Amino acid sequence: MSSVPQLVLDSKKSRHFDGRHPWVLANSIQEPKTEIEAGQVVELLQPNGSWIGRGVYNPNSRVRLRLLQWQPEQELNTEWICSQLSSALQFRKDRECTSGELEAVRMVNSEGDGLSGLVIDRFANYLVLQFTSLAMLKWREQILDWLQQNIAIDNILCVMDDNAAKQEGTEPFSIWQQEGKGSTIANFREHDVELTVDLKAAQKTGYYLDQRTNRMQASLAMQPGSLLDVCCYQAGFSLVAAKHAQIERIVAVDSSQRALEAAEQHAARNAVEGIEFQKADCFDYLQQLVQEKQTFDNIVLDPPRMAGHRSQINSALRAYHRLNLSAVNLLRPGGTLVTCSCSGRVFREDFWGVLSSVAKRSRRRIQVIESRGADFDHPIDVNCPESDYLKCFICRVD
Ligand code: SAH
Repeated sequence: MSSVPQLVLDSKKSRHFDGRHPWVLANSIQEPKTEIEAGQVVELLQPNGSWIGRGVYNPNSRVRLRLLQWQPEQELNTEWICSQLSSALQFRKDRECTSGELEAVRMVNSEGDGLSGLVIDRFANYLVLQFTSLAMLKWREQILDWLQQNIAIDNILCVMDDNAAKQEGTEPFSIWQQEGKGSTIANFREHDVELTVDLKAAQKTGYYLDQRTNRMQASLAMQPGSLLDVCCYQAGFSLVAAKHAQIERIVAVDSSQRALEAAEQHAARNAVEGIEFQKADCFDYLQQLVQEKQTFDNIVLDPPRMAGHRSQINSALRAYHRLNLSAVNLLRPGGTLVTCSCSGRVFREDFWGVLSSVAKRSRRRIQVIESRGADFDHPIDVNCPESDYLKCFICRVD
């Protein structure tokens, strides 16, 4: 008999339990008979005693158990965690051998790389580790040691934001591995664009790497003329378009002053002149442009996550509908619409449904030219469809 504490699935849930999903929610398991501490390795059993998997328990989180292993003979220890890191790193290296080296790359994509609750992004010679589970915090020091031994880097930023900390019942933090060591600014290139990101003051891990190839594919689909870049952050889509499409006028909108300041610096660094930056709420701003009867040849919509919880799905769908309807009303016939959703709870077919009703409502034909997701370095585990969060449809609108 194993010495690892065991949890048993609730008998009502067990029939529908898809044993390979890494998240086991509080209401899916029976109350443990003895006290199990937060961060302890446990095994999960069916009510009939058959073995399901092994993971880390957290009584303070709605996700009570993060399942990490599904093979009884394995051991959940530092060695195994490092083997997952090593396999994630090798996959990126192999890919870079065939398609060219990247200066900024997601090296570990949480569930997609078998490490639920850990994201690691490399920006040139810096690493940013974002923790969203207590399970991964358990191995924080060992993960840092492994990274320092296996990747040549100057410094590492470890972050757990307020939201994740609250959900996991722990404290938020943002700590440089070598505090006070030089700059926090990473310089890297994406496509032909030179970027300078202050990792300490940026959103998420620093830059939205998931949209890397989408930025290029969107640019290749753009019509000559004007571009409205909605929720532009640091002008990622605008700058790739300025270099790879025939764009004469760019209007780039975001509600964050800090993002817009960084965007302006990026434009200057890349000698892209004349971008009209607007600090505004995207819904109000698009409404205003429609009232002014403005038109654009290309529009990118890349709003923030709108549904963080199941209860927000319907309001998110309504918000996507409003935003996309305004965009279609602003597009010239034959224009290109690049529309994105990064809400994991809004599935691809639901977002497709939004576009379908926008087409009906506006009486315009919307052709999807490409239905895309996050870039290759954001792999998705087939058992965790929630991590297929990014939808990016490149469309032609008659
Ligand atoms: N398109 C960007 C990423 C966008 S992330 C890129 O290619 O890198 C979403 C952006 O939406 C963030 O920059 C955030 O500041 C902005 N945002 C959030 N709420 C907004 C709102 N109501 N109106 C306009 N921008 C908003």
